[in-house]
Amino acid sequence: MSTLEQGSVVIRGVGIGRATTVGPVLRMPEPVADPVDRPSTLDVDAEQARAAASLAATAAQLRERGEAAGGTAAEVLDALAMMAEDPALAADVQHRTADGATAEYAIFAAMGAFREMLQSLGGYLGERAGDLDDVARRAIAHLQGLPTPGVPVSDTPFVLVARDLAPADTATLDLDLVLALVTTDGGPTSHTAILAREKGITAVVGAADAARLSDGDIVLVDAENGTVELDPAQERIDLALQRTQTLEAIRAQSSGPGRLADGHPMPLLANIGSADSAREAAARGAEGVGLFRTEVLFLAAESAPSVEQQQRHYAEAFAHFPGQKVVVRALDAGADKPLAFLTDQHEENPALGRRGLRALIAHEEVLRDQLTALARAAADSDAEVQVMAPMVSTAEEARWFRDLAHELGLPVAGVMVEVPSCAIMADHVVPAADFVSIGTNDLTQYVFAADRLLGTVAQFQDPWHPAVLRLIEQVGRAGAEHDVPVGICGEAAADPRLAVVLVGLGATSLSMSPSAIADVRAELAQHSLDDARRLAALAVSAESAEAARSAVADALIP
Ligand code: PEP
Ligand code: MG
Repeated sequence: MSTLEQGSVVIRGVGIGRATTVGPVLRMPEPVADPVDRPSTLDVDAEQARAAASLAATAAQLRERGEAAGGTAAEVLDALAMMAEDPALAADVQHRTADGATAEYAIFAAMGAFREMLQSLGGYLGERAGDLDDVARRAIAHLQGLPTPGVPVSDTPFVLVARDLAPADTATLDLDLVLALVTTDGGPTSHTAILAREKGITAVVGAADAARLSDGDIVLVDAENGTVELDPAQERIDLALQRTQTLEAIRAQSSGPGRLADGHPMPLLANIGSADSAREAAARGAEGVGLFRTEVLFLAAESAPSVEQQQRHYAEAFAHFPGQKVVVRALDAGADKPLAFLTDQHEENPALGRRGLRALIAHEEVLRDQLTALARAAADSDAEVQVMAPMVSTAEEARWFRDLAHELGLPVAGVMVEVPSCAIMADHVVPAADFVSIGTNDLTQYVFAADRLLGTVAQFQDPWHPAVLRLIEQVGRAGAEHDVPVGICGEAAADPRLAVVLVGLGATSLSMSPSAIADVRAELAQHSLDDARRLAALAVSAESAEAARSAVADALIP
């Protein structure tokens, strides 16, 4: 934490979006500690009654919250309530208490066994396994008289301060009441950050010192500067809100295709994962799609989808972009996005395993089916369909993919640059592709050898770092030399000032969450290509991410 001149305390993290919000803090309760396995001091009947009562109360509480929230939240919470009521689970809990365990430990151990069983089944059920921990924690909190884990209930708007949000928490977020999100863990590509970006919620993530905030504290959450100010002076609030209004006015005025101040075109494309998100992207003014994450469509599939099934999905999405570019990524299976039909479940280190294009090379028939489906859907559509391969490591892989895509009727085939080897060898990889698209999320993860999903190393997941920017510069230079387009499709493109830097490093298009397009468009319109190159030079020569940000911010002060 640091202190401002006025005396108020400022907590720093990574801001998502540009807005500023003021409000009272409401903390998400700390996770309940794992119970210790020690013999019960109660008799078996009493312990069994405690266990049954807490599971019943947990189910009732989940349903009550679901009914209050309605929509998909009601479905998610009802599914959790059913887990708490599962008869097999109840029998296992009874068994364990009969053997002398406490109700807390019996529930914890029975849920753990149940979770392992679901995980071994893989697929959709495997993905739901984590929800059991959520149910167990609620029941244990009930037994111990602790606050219920999960998003706190309130009738008035609040700033939610949490360690991080679990997927089940995000389902219950009432966007009319949550003014802003502040998390102590997680980085710019964490689940919470992606949700905030998608829903346009003001957020600061990875703000470790926010752990010291208490319920009722008044905070000013400034996403643009990544700060959370405790007890801000009135003039700070006025200034921040005025800035938000100015930004909103600029955003409201900015429309049409992306352009720099000198008229240089910079297409603003969307990252999508389904036909629904394609519709939303088109409505938000995306000029096309720069990344269609096709694996998202098949996360729950046990076996590879048929050509016909895929063709239907792709055609639905393409229909929203007649006459515009849609870049489809071939299935990117592995690590955080396992697909039962492509991913080896037994890898010890899946982020470094046979993922992305490596898995597709090993299952060429799956890739051939997907490319065939894409070629057929493209032939029936007015969209300008291009295809790209994920997690490419060598020029040889890039050539192999391009040749296969051309053979199967897709004339424009590129590669993602997200493995450092690919950026380091850009002078060879770039000419082996029809275009390249830089995935800054994975590129940053691999440059720093820091898991992008792990809160404890979130400080490394910062694409402002010159170590990442220098690689992007190298790819940009190779693209210009070989006249090969260089897109950016990681979350970095959604940060308006970083977007300007990326253009200065040679990006020829930017693809992002649709909700970020208006802000990025407004920022780009304020800088010429020469400005962008000047800012990029400042950023790449800085020592750290922080220094790069500051150098650019200082250069922009009028
Ligand atoms: C990336 O890695 O930057 C990217 C765009 O792909 P994903 O986030 O889906 O891994
Ligand atoms: Mg990636």
